[in-house]
Amino acid sequence: MKKKILIVEDNPQNMRLMEMTLRAKNYTLLKATDGEEALDMAMRERPDLILMDIWLPKVNGLEVTRKLRQDPAFRHIPIIGVTAYAMKGDKERIIESGCDVYLSKPIDTHELPEIITTILSRRQKDNPW
Ligand code: MN
Repeated sequence: MKKKILIVEDNPQNMRLMEMTLRAKNYTLLKATDGEEALDMAMRERPDLILMDIWLPKVNGLEVTRKLRQDPAFRHIPIIGVTAYAMKGDKERIIESGCDVYLSKPIDTHELPEIITTILSRRQKDNPW
């Protein structure tokens, strides 16, 4: 079955880049452009992995991640935090919010699909369902 990836990103250019990077792979891509939409979409669609921009309108990515992690259904869904404005302590804050991995923008279009493949295959092994 196709894996569902939720891309949360408010910048249209970055969104397009992520889509182009992942389109060639056999994923179902879902999109959200602010924190509220991200929460709604995640609850409704139950993605297998979430790419979470940290700076988002309405609810920021840290808060969205924290909220999702409070829900047992989302405790083990891989969440990749993404931000361009990494200042001192940001990486720690992002991981602390519940993200599994942290990536900085601009996204490396070769690295991203590899990271996603690795995370998803690791999960499959751990959780055979
Ligand atoms: Mn943003």
